[in-house]
Amino acid sequence: MQVFSTVEEIRKIVKGWRREGLSVGLVPTMGFLHEGHRSLIDCAVRENDRVVVSVFVNPIQFGPNEDLASYPRNLEADTILCEKAGAHALFHPAPEEMYLPGFCTFVDVPDLSRFLCGKTRPTHFRGMCTVVSKLFHIVMPDRAYFGQKDAQQLAIVRRMVRDLQFDIQIVGCPIIREPDGLAKSSRNTYLNPEERRAAVVLSRAVALGREMMEHGERSAAAVESAMKCLIEQEPLARIDYVTVADAQSMTPVERIEGPVLCAMAVYIGTTRLIDNFFFGDPLC
Ligand code: AMP
Repeated sequence: MQVFSTVEEIRKIVKGWRREGLSVGLVPTMGFLHEGHRSLIDCAVRENDRVVVSVFVNPIQFGPNEDLASYPRNLEADTILCEKAGAHALFHPAPEEMYLPGFCTFVDVPDLSRFLCGKTRPTHFRGMCTVVSKLFHIVMPDRAYFGQKDAQQLAIVRRMVRDLQFDIQIVGCPIIREPDGLAKSSRNTYLNPEERRAAVVLSRAVALGREMMEHGERSAAAVESAMKCLIEQEPLARIDYVTVADAQSMTPVERIEGPVLCAMAVYIGTTRLIDNFFFGDPLC
């Protein structure tokens, strides 16, 4: 596996593969890779002749008071994981390589970015869509792999690809969890042992919400309040949001009739964690 840091280099290698008629899969990440990322890479390796993993902590998707500077990074470990997983190239550009001086062009999917995480992170999805579009143009993959852990991101990327008519298949992959249920995340590394124990409350709330819907509860407010009530019993947890939304439009619903996404963001101490489940629609 080769590691590239310039757009020119990765373009050259991918163009060579394309000339040979090989299919290309892309797994966009911010690095500090774990088994969640690994599952995306495994899927990409199974479905494509060549796989590119990008590792880029994208500055424009972080708000002014967010964790851009402290976001965990470990390129050496990431390289080993990608190599073991069978990826063919790791693309690790510096911010200056991706954002030239005077950069001012953005991709936005405002209708799907308004609620859920978009409420507290108003510029996050615009930054994400912009970098993902850039990666799509640079790598020109046949398929790109995203985790359902970031369900709103996945829905937004699907809409962006449809609206801008990118010739790329978006593949959604299930959430990979720790044995106690906590969704794997690079940000879990911020948690001290006490917070780590408390963080299981997110997946417990997911289980409760899912069970209520499976047992026929159709009031979004009833599900949200039961989940909130459970989370509030954990002293280290502070709720950002718990919302049942339409699975396509990402708009909050009152009644659970069509397919829905039930998503949440919860601070455990100062660490903001997310989790979710779909009901009535596999989406992947
Ligand atoms: P990140 O590096 O956090 O930006 O994540 C890169 C990709 O990996 C995104 O598509 C995430 O949804 C996906 N991902 C992160 N954690 C998990 C997980 N626990 N299970 C499945 N996919 C994940």
